[in-house]
Amino acid sequence: MSVVELLEGLLRPARCLGCGAPAAWPCCARCLPSEPGQVGPWRLAADPQVPLWALGPYQGGLRAALLAGKLDGQPAALTELGRRLGAALDAAGVGADLVTWVAGRSAGLPRDHAERIGAGVAATLGLPALGLLAPAGGRDLGRARRANRPDRPPPARPPPRARRRLAGGRVLVVDDLATTGGTLAGAAASLRRAGARRVEAAVLAVAPTAIGGP
Ligand SMILES: [Zn+2]
Repeated sequence: MSVVELLEGLLRPARCLGCGAPAAWPCCARCLPSEPGQVGPWRLAADPQVPLWALGPYQGGLRAALLAGKLDGQPAALTELGRRLGAALDAAGVGADLVTWVAGRSAGLPRDHAERIGAGVAATLGLPALGLLAPAGGRDLGRARRANRPDRPPPARPPPRARRRLAGGRVLVVDDLATTGGTLAGAAASLRRAGARRVEAAVLAVAPTAIGGP
């Protein structure tokens, strides 16, 4: 390979994470329409009080891109997808005072997926992004299963500083994916207990099981 070819390879915009189409990072228009159709709000099945927004269904190219972003060391792609989500929410007229995210890791570890997505959403909406929620641990499904058990431990309570920020505010809580919605419902309950007046949820991709009735 010549130096020129090598440089072209480095400089050429990267491929679509979903289908590998060239020069379409992070997602080509087929995998993720540049103007997504309906992004919500739906009702979160696990807590119908919580409006749920999503860039698209958890299938096809968007699912592949999300998995690639999470598993293949593509954190910048998650932030960029978060910006796309933020732009769609802005167009849909979402109203919030701050953005937070479902924390998947303990403090001190590298930033996690939902935080990166939340940063993209917050930057696009011009809102502060604040880490208010303690890590819930485990995967969405596992956490939701535990949440259905009567002996579940209460979700972590945001610290006092966070409670002051939350008082009477409208909070948008971000995660990468909603499968059962149990994690988001737990997060919303914690935020409301801490004083949030209204909590909405936004994810990159949503499974049908996360969406409740009309
Ligand atoms: Zn694609």
